[in-house]
Amino acid sequence: MVQISNHLPTAELQRLDAAHHLHPFTSHSELTEKGARVITRAKGVFLTDSEGEEILDGMAGLWCVNIGYGRDELAEAGARQMRELPYYNTFFQSTHVPAIALANKLAELMPEHLNHVFFAGSGSEANDTNIRLVRTYWDLKGKPSKKVIISRKNAYHGSSVGSGSLGGMAYMHSQGGLPIPDIHHINQPNWWAEGGDMTPEEFGLARAQELEAAILEMGEDRVAAFIAEPVMGAGGVIVAPSTYWPEIQRICDKYEILLIADEVICGFGRTGNWFGSQTLNIRPDIMTIAKGLSSGYAPIGASVVSDEVAEVIGQTEFNHGYTYSGHPVACAVALENLRILEEEGIVDHVRTVAAPYLKQAWESLTDHPLVGEATIVGMMASIALTPDKASRAKFAADPGTVGLMCRERCFANNLVMRHVGDRMVISPPLIITPEEIDMLLMRARKSLDETYARLQEQDMLRPAS
Ligand SMILES: *Cc1c(COP(=O)(O)O)cnc(C)c1O
Repeated sequence: MVQISNHLPTAELQRLDAAHHLHPFTSHSELTEKGARVITRAKGVFLTDSEGEEILDGMAGLWCVNIGYGRDELAEAGARQMRELPYYNTFFQSTHVPAIALANKLAELMPEHLNHVFFAGSGSEANDTNIRLVRTYWDLKGKPSKKVIISRKNAYHGSSVGSGSLGGMAYMHSQGGLPIPDIHHINQPNWWAEGGDMTPEEFGLARAQELEAAILEMGEDRVAAFIAEPVMGAGGVIVAPSTYWPEIQRICDKYEILLIADEVICGFGRTGNWFGSQTLNIRPDIMTIAKGLSSGYAPIGASVVSDEVAEVIGQTEFNHGYTYSGHPVACAVALENLRILEEEGIVDHVRTVAAPYLKQAWESLTDHPLVGEATIVGMMASIALTPDKASRAKFAADPGTVGLMCRERCFANNLVMRHVGDRMVISPPLIITPEEIDMLLMRARKSLDETYARLQEQDMLRPAS
């Protein structure tokens, strides 16, 4: 067998990668031609690639490495657990200490009424659990017609058949027969792109009221739940206008609709509180968590449900679970991650140091000729690229063309910043220091300047007609 190691030349690793590895959300033929960037090590907020370049990871991996890379304590917690009990299941009336400890710790950290944890291996799995859970809940309450789950266009809730259906990504629905029945999507509260002549406040209210309109149209007796991210992440860090969430909460309270907050990105300090629901003053019946739960060091997710939902579900055998529900190694790693978050005051660091510093730096980007709005909540932020700020115009080029150009400039400048269409987004590790934020902004500005110069050269600064 060929020994594949970090010591092979980059081109050889790229060739072997292209030969046998199919990547998620990637065009294989395109990647084969170009070659993937090979990441070999990481420490703090920096990645190192196979060419020895040091890259500032403005995305914390995929929004998950909240405590930063290279924490030995997590490696040791995982190794210790592997030696003691590498695996046992939590089916058939069995349990183990890491699952007990993590469920209890989560109940302590969560808003008061959320005290019961159903483990999964990922955010997608946890949202699949939620689909079955809320429908079973209403069956047990004697209201089996309540089956519809309302979500939002441009939402991201995962990539499995169920969670991908909950999500509102048209390009995902177009492959593989999604969405499944009884999922309904209303419009997103994205004022920049869709607000027209309304003020943000008017628009936020109007978009929230689409939930009420949908409930009334389908009938309250058919709607089981509403699911939403407190701040849309993969959709481009879309922060709803201030009027949006209070109205959503009012509507969920008025009609008997369970509110599911998908906190997979917003949870564990990202927004400056433990949970995005606290930042936005939302009272969910169910929370989806994953990503920052283990800072990405081990795959784990969960649905955390209210006392009332747990009591109803507890009346029957819920015929659902994953081999790796409450995996002991993942639980041990997550527990250690939560200990570090708590003992090192990382959520406080976000609220009092990192987020205020990032906010003033990030919002200063609006003086750049290419940047329309800058939005930020805690440590997740975005900028909208536009050829004309006043009219919030889109580019004449296909959506995403300019965003991709900018991302490639970022990559060349050793910064990971993602593009969602023509929005650029960041979500750095929460432990980032002010000096590292300065470096992030310097690289972002340089990349914006280079993108702008290229657009000028290629006569692409034109608005869509
Ligand atoms: C990433 C994400 C998911 C899916 O989590 P996976 O672990 O990739 O399955 C679900 N919801 C939100 C909001 C996410 O950002």
